[in-house]
Formats: sequence, structure tokens, C-alpha cells
Amino acid sequence: MILTMDEFAIIHRFFTWPKRNGRTLLGVGDDAALIRPVDRPIAITTDTLVEGVHFLPEAPSESVGHRALAVNLSDLAAMGAEPSWALLAMTLPEADIGWLERFRRGAERLARRYGIDLIGGDTTRGPCTVVTVTALGEVPEGEVLRRFGAKAGDLVCVTGTLGDAALGLKMLKGEIMWRSEEAVRRHLFPEPQVGAGLLLRGRATACIDLSDGLLADLGHILEASGVGATLEWEALPLSPAVRRYLSESGDRLFPLREGEDYHLCFTLPPAKQSVLEDLGLAFYPIGTIEGRRGLRIRDRGEEVALEPLGYRHFGKDPASENRRISSNASLGYRHFGKDPSSGPNVSLPSCSL
Ligand code: ADP
Ligand code: MG
Repeated sequence: MILTMDEFAIIHRFFTWPKRNGRTLLGVGDDAALIRPVDRPIAITTDTLVEGVHFLPEAPSESVGHRALAVNLSDLAAMGAEPSWALLAMTLPEADIGWLERFRRGAERLARRYGIDLIGGDTTRGPCTVVTVTALGEVPEGEVLRRFGAKAGDLVCVTGTLGDAALGLKMLKGEIMWRSEEAVRRHLFPEPQVGAGLLLRGRATACIDLSDGLLADLGHILEASGVGATLEWEALPLSPAVRRYLSESGDRLFPLREGEDYHLCFTLPPAKQSVLEDLGLAFYPIGTIEGRRGLRIRDRGEEVALEPLGYRHFGKDPASENRRISSNASLGYRHFGKDPSSGPNVSLPSCSL
């Protein structure tokens, strides 16, 4: 069902949610929101999802709503911050009530789980769907998790299995002829590791979320900390579906190179391992930080050849090409087949990279 609603009707109907946070003084509705300041630092982050780049044009909008918030909560988790507020800027080709309703459901369910208030945003029309969320969270000074701080001897750990989200995307794109519902779910509804981030505060020596792939993201920790690492192949947490894909494709670096798992990668002094286990945090030690720079992977004593792979939007390496949702990036795609220049009162540029 496609109906035209003006932006105020859209905001009123879909993006005016009940307030849950006592420090929200003013949410959606005026020219700006008001929040009560806290005596702790506020972590602020923003991330954009572009149709055809970060989600398939035919992706369920419940997933788009969930992911738009989840990727931001993942950034807050990686800082050890507790999420409190979000803003949502949307560009839509048309007001599709069904799409918007499912989008809202996906985003609001996640927001409700963490007591986050949606306090503002922007709603505009454009040639393809672009969703930008800004998230704010709080973290005690001195307990902020940073990318630097990893020390030789620390364990390198991850909070979940690697490569599932990318595998799920391959399944949705029809590049694999079998299906793992769990892998598809990991792509459509990644779970930000907010609770893990809170438990890692004051314990992990460095932390990052896995958005661009373990090699790239751990690479940031190593670079920022001025150290290197050796990972043990046998220790990598891989789901049965990813193991099956590796054996069928022979692409064993797949789970290390591919991103969007939104688990956390962190470094931990070995003495803290049992503390975290006692707190009930599920995590996997996968290697060790070393003074010698660079990232190495060992499989039963033998070093596995590695290239510095990881997604870069403007990179030239083939991995960047693979990671785009649609390799031809037909971003002129519109949900409603309507010439955008015939719609709103401005003529819109075509949406292509
Ligand atoms: P202005 O023209 O002053 O920027 P808008 O008409 O864009 O105001 O927005 C009206 C109110 O609705 C503001 O409080 C704004 O933050 C909020 N808002 C607009 N779009 C969204 C959205 N997609 N989600 C949440 N809040 C929104
Ligand atoms: Mg506005």
C-alpha cells in the first residue's frame, strides 16, 4: 500500500514514541530536543545505511529499522557506553505506510529493549532510501573503552562467531544455494553487544566492534596500540554454517575478512579472563597480543598467509567490490517506479555512486 503522507504525518504516526528516559526533557516535536546533562561523558556516534550499499532494496524494512539503530548501538557498546538517546534522519523515495510501519517496529523494539528515547530526526524525500541514526550513550570517565591500550601478553577475544552475517547476506543474494536461518538472521537482525560492552569497562585494555571484518577492525586496535598479534586458527569461533561454506568454497579467510557481525573484539589481560567468565560473559580468546607489529594467524604451528583485507567504501581492493550489496550498484532503484523528478518540488539527482 503506497499512500502519500506529508512528513509531519509520518513523524507523528511513526516516530513519536513513548518517552522512557527520565532525562529526556523534550523529544520529537519542537525545533530541537532537550536532554538533561549528566556528570558523565556522553558518547555520540552516527552511522548511515544506504539502500543498495548497506541493505538490499528488497530487504524487510523491519530489518532496516533494526539495523539502523543496531549498528549505532554497536559503536556505543564498543566504547563501553550505555545507550540513552537516538535521532533518526531518513530520506525516502515515497511514503509507503506498510514499509514505514515495519521499519518502526524493527527500530522501536530494539530501542525499547535498551530504554532508548527517540528524541528527533529529519524526514526528507529523495531518490533512494537512506537512513542515518545518531545515538548517544553514557559512560563513566576513566572506564571508556578505546582502541588503544592493548599490551603484549593480552588475550585477543571476540564475543561471538565470525562471518555469519556475511554468509546470511550471500544466501539472501542467491549466491549460495542452501540456507541457514541463523546466518540470515545474523545479517538481518544483528545483536549489538551492549551488555558485553558494559562488562568490559575497566577490564578490557582495548575494544572495537566488528563492522568491517576482524582483520580490518583488529588491525585498528593493533595500530592504535602500537602492537601486533598472532591468532590461532583453531580458536576462531565459527558456526557450522560458516564451516560448511569454508569447506565448499575454500575461502578460509572469509570469516576474518567479512564484516557486519557487530560482535566486539577486545583485548584482555589474562588475569581478567576468569573475572569475565564469572560475570557470565560469553567470549572466545582467539590469540595473543605481541610486541612484534603486524597480524599473523597460525594453524597448528604453520603461519597462514594474510593480506590486509577489510571493507573500504572507496578502496580499490576486490574485497570492497564484493562487499557491496549489489555489485552493479543499481542505486537508481526506486520502490515505486516513479520518476523522482515528477514527485517533489525539486528535481532530484539520480542516486548512484
Ligand atoms: P525542522 O523543520 O525545525 O527541522 P522538522 O519538521 O524537520 O523540524 O521536524 C519536526 C520534529 O520532528 C523535530 O522535533 C524533529 O527532530 C522531529 N523529526 C523529524 N523527522 C524525524 C524522524 N524521522 N524521527 C524522529 N524525529 C523526527
Ligand atoms: Mg528538520
